[in-house]
Amino acid sequence: MKAPTLPDTKMERLVFLGWNDTGAQKKFIIAKHDGQLTGVQGSFTPVSKKGICAFCHQNERVGLFKADIKAKGNTDNFRAIGQYICADSLACSAHVQSTDRLDAFIRELKS
Ligand SMILES: [Zn+2]
Repeated sequence: MKAPTLPDTKMERLVFLGWNDTGAQKKFIIAKHDGQLTGVQGSFTPVSKKGICAFCHQNERVGLFKADIKAKGNTDNFRAIGQYICADSLACSAHVQSTDRLDAFIRELKS
């Protein structure tokens, strides 16, 4: 997976870094979780109406982000959790007031 390159100063200000692979309808998110950079990827299905984003709580163009994570030691066992989040992760990250919801999302995926 290839991440866009951003200057360090910009990364520091961002709550999370997210980008879309529109061809494959996928979204990738990298966030600091428990002091570690954690990557989450999943399918992203844009919806035609605006909606409230689960991460930043703005009324924005959203899509259903269905993240999956492999359970440790068992590659057949996938957990998937869906959330409606902004299509534009850069704008979303700028709007996020608190990382609580993002943290909760990652925690749930990793549990
Ligand atoms: Zn958002």
